This record gives sequence, structure tokens and C-alpha cells, in this order.
Amino acid sequence: MKNGLKQPGKKIDILIVEDSLTQAMQLKYLLEKNMYSVITADNGQNALEVLDQFEPSIIISDICMPGIDGYDLCRRVKALDREKEIPVILLTSLSNPEDVVEGLECGADNFITKPYAENYLLSHIQQIIANQSLRQTERVRIGVEIIFAGKRRFIAANQQQMLTLLISTYEAAVLKNTELLQTQEELQTLNEQLEEMVEERTVELKRNEQKYLDLYDNAPTMFMSVEYQTGIVIDCNETLLKKTGFKRSEVIGNHFYSRYHPNSIEQVKKNFQLFNETGEIEDSELELITVSGEKVPVLMNSTAVRDENGNILHSRSVLQDITKLKQTEQELLLAKDKAEESDNLKSAFLANMSHEIRTPMNGILGFSQLLSDRDISDQEKDKYIEAIDKSTQQLLHIITDILDISKIEAKQETTQLTIFNLNELLEEVIAFFRPMFNQKKLTLSYVKNQTFDKYKIKSDQVKLRQILTNIIGNAHKFTEKGKVELDVFIIENKIIFNVIDTGIGIDPSLYSVIFDRFRQVELTYSRKYGGTGLGLSLSKSYIEMMGGSISVDSIPGEGSTFIFDIPLIIDADPVLDNRSETEEIPIVNSWVDKTLLVAEDEELNLFYVKTVLKPSGIKIIIAQNGLEAVEHCKTNNEISMVLMDIKMPEMDGLTATRIIKSFNKSLPIIAITAYALSGDGMRCLEAGCDDYLAKPIKRELLYSMINKYIS
Ligand code: ADP
Repeated sequence: MKNGLKQPGKKIDILIVEDSLTQAMQLKYLLEKNMYSVITADNGQNALEVLDQFEPSIIISDICMPGIDGYDLCRRVKALDREKEIPVILLTSLSNPEDVVEGLECGADNFITKPYAENYLLSHIQQIIANQSLRQTERVRIGVEIIFAGKRRFIAANQQQMLTLLISTYEAAVLKNTELLQTQEELQTLNEQLEEMVEERTVELKRNEQKYLDLYDNAPTMFMSVEYQTGIVIDCNETLLKKTGFKRSEVIGNHFYSRYHPNSIEQVKKNFQLFNETGEIEDSELELITVSGEKVPVLMNSTAVRDENGNILHSRSVLQDITKLKQTEQELLLAKDKAEESDNLKSAFLANMSHEIRTPMNGILGFSQLLSDRDISDQEKDKYIEAIDKSTQQLLHIITDILDISKIEAKQETTQLTIFNLNELLEEVIAFFRPMFNQKKLTLSYVKNQTFDKYKIKSDQVKLRQILTNIIGNAHKFTEKGKVELDVFIIENKIIFNVIDTGIGIDPSLYSVIFDRFRQVELTYSRKYGGTGLGLSLSKSYIEMMGGSISVDSIPGEGSTFIFDIPLIIDADPVLDNRSETEEIPIVNSWVDKTLLVAEDEELNLFYVKTVLKPSGIKIIIAQNGLEAVEHCKTNNEISMVLMDIKMPEMDGLTATRIIKSFNKSLPIIAITAYALSGDGMRCLEAGCDDYLAKPIKRELLYSMINKYIS
């Protein structure tokens, strides 16, 4: 198309020249939305063709386009000989100052920077349209030649054009600046947010670090890291320091060998060798050393920490304290040894028991057979009877011990407290042993402690007698020459008993075991000295039951001292148990007119009682069981006293006693109990019996008991 004066074509508001279809459509849509009529051309050439037919109020053109670019188009538009000059707005990024010079040069009216703000664009279009009339009058062109960026340029724009272009440039710069400021502000806010986030993350990281450090330091296991090349400890946790008592500075920086007890060093060296080869150590039992030189047994596991080339940097060891495990192991070993020892003891005990029981049994059998020989003299007969009596006592003693120990095992044994005169008891025990000591030509000394005549004490008399009998019996048994001394005194609230002998003595290593059941120092002793190994165990149990303790002191070959104590309880309201086993047989003339009911089902026992009481002339009637006894007491007023066996068929003695006492309270009833079951006495008294006698019944005791109640 040729330039020349043109007739005004069809009126249109805006011509958009834009080679990007998307951008052209976007702009068209915006302008049409704001009530402008719009036509588009996709390059400069097409725009010029459009101008042949149309008369737009404004041209908005992109700069970079193929063929005729924005500047060129502007130049040509400005050169058109039109009645009204068409303002041209160039869309530019304004990244280069040359754009401004080129804009001036080509006579552009305005710059709009890309990307444009919609409102800004619309307000400019309005402004340009409003200024159009002004443009018509002001057409003075300035021809200026300038050199910019090394190029000679000719600016032929009019003043209005120049002004609006410069203002638009300035505005664009201001806009850019505002945008920049806004972006800067946004950046600032983002930066602050980022800083806040970083701070929060740092706090969280620190918290986590603290948490893991706490876990590491206070874990139940010990941790230690050792530098591989030097063997220097580079780290350890608090647990290790607490367990060993060392300061951190004493551990870190020192060789790891110094953490171990000398006992373990050999093993530690072997482990190190293994670690060199495999990079790990599994379940190695070692001993750490504490600051005071004590051992802490540990189970150690180590792994290697390597660099990226696989070279070992340092070891990381976990050490678990196994003190308790070791203790348990030790206890188990001891228990095992003890179980094995008990097994051996049991066999030894059985062999010994067999011997102990057979000896008196043989005695009884042998002498009984001899007794049946009609030709023996009275003297021999007495000797045999004495031998049988001795064997029987021995057997009874063994059986009693076994029964007592069973009762203790079954926890059925309890103490039975009575009030008695201790001196009397001690004198009885001494009197019992005197003949045995005389026979062995040993001295048995006891200096009476006058204090005990002033006080009556409360204790288990039966058990105390048994304890003294066992200990003095042992002293007698294990002493060949010299003496045995009984010494009794009070310290604070305890009665102390010392039994000192000049016998074979006991090795100190055996002090505790001799109090174990079936335990004898040497099995050969059982052959030489006899005994079941139960006496001391029984005595210890009884003493402890009474609230006391027993111990032994000895010099082997010179003698032993057994010391025991029981609590001193003084009776406030004395009721003396004044039965005495040593009383003389009383004068019995007065019993001729008395009747004694003997309730007893065993023939042998009956025979014994009848024989023993025959000299007294007392009349004896017999009941075979409890029922018969009750019947006799109901019907026979002559009965002055009852001897009641507690174990009988049909009705037992205690039931019978209760019934008899219910209708005849004043009739004296003496219970006959089994000697071994010492708790029976108490039960008899509770049932209403006036007193009790233990089997086998001693002649003197029977007489004194009848005498006490019958007269
Ligand atoms: P037993 O005397 O029946 O063997 P004990 O339990 O009374 O059983 O005593 C256990 C062991 O203690 C005895 O076998 C003996 O080895 C030792 N023993 C006890 N008393 C004495 C003592 N006075 N002197 C030396 N050894 C004693």
C-alpha cells in the first residue's frame, strides 16, 4: 500500500498489532470488555493494510515482529498523510534505554511495559484518546540529531509526543519500581518467614538432639567409642561414668585398656585382634574397673564405624552390666553344689541312721533273748535289763529327734511357754548327766546362779531341757578327758548359756554346717561317737523359735564352746510349775483305800502301770476307751483319780475328759501323752486335764503325780 492522503475509512477504536495470537486475543478480550471496538493484525504489513480501510483512534503494537517491526510500523503510520494523526502505543519490556531513543525516533506516543497491568493500560488508552484534540493543534516537530550508544539518530517527534513518551517511560519506571518495592517487601516477608521457620527448625533440631543425647547418656547400657588407630577413647556416655566412678576427662583422651580390670586385659587384647580382622566383637564377657579398683562384669558388643572407602575410623561398643546375672549364676552354682552335697548327706544319713537304729535294736533283741534263758543269775538279769533299758532310751531318743525335726519341717512346732524356776531345771539336767560323766571320769561343773532363785522365768521349759540335753550330751560325747562346764548368766534382757568342753573341737570352717540337718563333721565320727546329726539342727530351730540364737567357738584339739541365748522374761505373777522329776517316791500307805481309773487300750502300757503301782496298794479299775471311762466315772463314786491316755478308740481321752469334767469338776484327771509330741501337754490342759505325764512314764513321776492330786 502506498502512503498518501487518505480519505478517512471506517471508524474503529483500537488496532492491535501482535504476532502472538494468544496475546492479541487476550488484549482484544480486555478492550472489548471495556466497550472499545477492536481490530487485530498479526504483523506490521497487515496492520498497514488494515489502515487502508479503517480509521482507528489508537494503534497498540508489539515491537518485535517479523517483517515490519513495531518501530517501523510506527514510523510508517506517522508518515501517513492523514487528517488526524493516529497515536501509537508500543508494547515493550523496556529492558534497554535504546528502546526509548528508538521510540522517540519513530515518533511513538506511548510505551506500555509488558506484562501490563490491566487498569494501567486502560487508563492510558483513555488518556491518549482525551489528549487527541491537543495533538491536532500541536504539530511542531523538532528535528534533533543525537548520538546514542555509538549510533547517530535523528529524533523528529513533536513536543507532545516526546512528553507523553517520556512520561510513559517514567511511569513505566515508577511502576517497575513500585513492583520492585512490592517484590522486595514480599521478599522481606518471605525472608522473615523463612528465618522464623529456620529458627523453629533449629529449636526442634536442638530438642531432638537433646532427646537423643539424653537417651544416649542415660541408657541402661554403657557406650564407648574408641579411635581405631590409636586406641584412644573418643566418647562415652554418662552411664559408663556413673558405673565406674571416673570423670569424663579421665576416660576421654586415654587408652581404652585403662577402662578394664587387669583380669580382663588378655581377653581385651584378643578382642582387639578379632576386631582388626572382622570389624566386630560379639558377646564378650569382660570386667571394667571402677575408680576404687573394683570389678564391674560386662557383656560387650562392638561394631566398626567406617569412612566412605570402608576403612575403620573408630569402634562403637555397647557394654551391658551383668553383675546381677553373675550373682544369680553364682547363687545357682552354690545351690547346685548344695543340692549335690545334700544328696551325699542324705545317703550318708541313711547309712548312719541304719547303723544308729540297728545298734540299740540289736541290743534289745539280744538281751531279751538272753533274759529268756532260765539259768541266768539275778545279777546277770539286772545287767541285761539295764542294757535293754539303755538301748530303748537310745532308740526313743532317735525317734523323738526324727519326729521333732519333721514337726519343725511341717511348721507344726510352736513354743509352749510355762513359768518355772530355771535353777531347778538346770539342776535336773545336771543330775541327769552326772552318772554318765562319772562313768567317763569327766568333770561336769555348774555354779548355781543365785539370781535365778529370785526370779521365775517364762519360757518353753520342754524345749530348753531338750536343747541343754543335746548340747551337754554332745560335749560329753566329744570329750575324752577334762571337763564340761555349764555357765548361765544374764546380759540385758537375755539369758546366756555357755557349754564349754575340753573335747576334740571343731574346725572353724565347719561352724555353720554343723547346725544343718544330718550334718556331722566326719562320717567316721558317727561310727566312733554315734549320733544322727540332728541334735544341733533341732536345738538351733528351737532356740530361734524362742527368739534367741546359737553359735560355736572352738580350737580343734582343745575344745569347744557352744553359746546360746533366749529372751529373759520374768514372771510378774509367779505360778510355779513345780513338778520335779527327782522327787523321792512318797510314802504310799494312804493309797490303800483309793481307787484309780486307768483309761488305756494298750495291754503293755496297762501292765506297766499296774506293775509300777502294785506296791502302793491302790485299787485299779480299767477302761478300754473314752466311752467306758466316762461310764465308770458316772457310775462309780469310789474313783479318786483318772489316768487318761489321750489316744484311744471309740472316744479319745480329751473328749472323755471334757465330758467327765462337765459332771464332776473336782475329779483329778491326769493325761498320758506321747513324749515325742511335746505340744500335746498344752492341749491336755486346755481340755480340762489337771496335769499330764509323757510316755514312757517314769515311776517316780507317776508316784509324785498321784500323791499330789490324790491326797
Ligand atoms: P550328732 O551329735 O547326733 O552327730 P549334732 O547335730 O548334735 O549331731 O552335732 C553335729 C556334729 O557337730 C557332730 O556330729 C559333731 O561332729 C559336731 N559337734 C557337736 N558338738 C560338738 C562338740 N562339743 N565337740 C566337737 N564336735 C561337736
